[in-house]
Amino acid sequence: MNVLVINAGSSSLKYQLLNVETQTLLAKGICERVGSEEAFHKHGLDKNEQVIDAKMADHDDAMALVLEALTSGPTKAIDSLDEIDAVGHRIVQGGKYFDKSVLIDDEVIERIGELAELAPLHNGAALMGIHACQKHMPDVPMVAVFDTSFFQTLPPKAYMYAIPYELYEKYAIRKYGAHGTSHRYISERAATVLDEPLDDLKLITCHLGNGCSMSAIDHGVAVDTSMGLTPLDGLMMGTRCGAIDPAIVPFIMEHENLNAQEVNDLMNKKSGLLGISGISNDLRSVRDASEQGDERAQLAYDMYSNSVKKYIGQYIAVMGGVDAIVLTAGVGENCEKMRRMIFTGLQPLGIKLDLEKNKGRGGERVISTDDSAVQIVIIPTDEEYMIARDTYEIVHERIDEPLI
Ligand code: AMP
Repeated sequence: MNVLVINAGSSSLKYQLLNVETQTLLAKGICERVGSEEAFHKHGLDKNEQVIDAKMADHDDAMALVLEALTSGPTKAIDSLDEIDAVGHRIVQGGKYFDKSVLIDDEVIERIGELAELAPLHNGAALMGIHACQKHMPDVPMVAVFDTSFFQTLPPKAYMYAIPYELYEKYAIRKYGAHGTSHRYISERAATVLDEPLDDLKLITCHLGNGCSMSAIDHGVAVDTSMGLTPLDGLMMGTRCGAIDPAIVPFIMEHENLNAQEVNDLMNKKSGLLGISGISNDLRSVRDASEQGDERAQLAYDMYSNSVKKYIGQYIAVMGGVDAIVLTAGVGENCEKMRRMIFTGLQPLGIKLDLEKNKGRGGERVISTDDSAVQIVIIPTDEEYMIARDTYEIVHERIDEPLI
């Protein structure tokens, strides 16, 4: 069964076509800068990738280009649209309505629209992707997979904010989390790699990329996570500040004469590694600058690792221990130096990084020492596969075997 996975952003449309039964990636690509003069379309697998300048006024145009590239020309992956059996859409915000993935119908579309207030850029874009698919493939079933649904198991003591309760009742202000599909995938895979049932494990999962989040997963159930009402909370990130003293917000607004939107932009786009280093949101550039003696780059690097370290401590306390710490995404999977900094000093907690294994490259692997009480595991994330699998299960049948 072929599933088309769609991840629509405000000006982009990312996609993968996967055969779920054979676990084969048939095609992938991205339409970027949709709606602008510089729009382009990248399509194809690795060596066969083609970059095409193409006019796309909106997501509807982008979807038409995607379907054309999938079914014709040198990069075609299938003969006709009939070979797309289902579409899985990544949706950032599912609010309190969705604790699992669902088949998309009119009511689901209405709810996603209603929740756009909590994720204006993302849910609005997802709706554009859904409408475009409906137009071009009206008879193909579609499934919504929410970034937030994995965290609907959080207890109220973890998801409530200590602000007047009426604000929760009136606006549903609470923690929803983010990157849930990634945390779910890496927790399942880590259990397989460790050869232990997920239900027997206390895990701390760390998605460390440009966006960063961490979760406490107690016996397969998410009990806490670092992202909040929006994906701004928690860890320091590439351009996002993460958790800061909330009083800083009115202070900056007053002293810098900024309105709510401007201060929101400052915290989302000008902070984090970029804001502190003044160099880049990309950890590699910050690392290189710090190694050449740039003090602010060094500070940014230290703050990033310290931020992860503090959440490890918090989640050990929340779960009363931890069996394994799981790392993923650009930094978690690739940055040997950042991993070393995160785990330095945690030996008294039974967490021992193996410095040689930490230097290794590629794929799923354990990087803790053989005598470490807590295992440290790297799992490259695969959100698209998880979306395709959920879609397959809802449209076709449940897969009971563990993930490959
Ligand atoms: P992601 O959002 O998962 O694509 O991750 C992006 C982040 O991962 C950026 O900050 C990159 O600098 C970082 N990253 C990717 N590859 C490496 C690497 N080999 N070493 C250090 N950081 C890396």
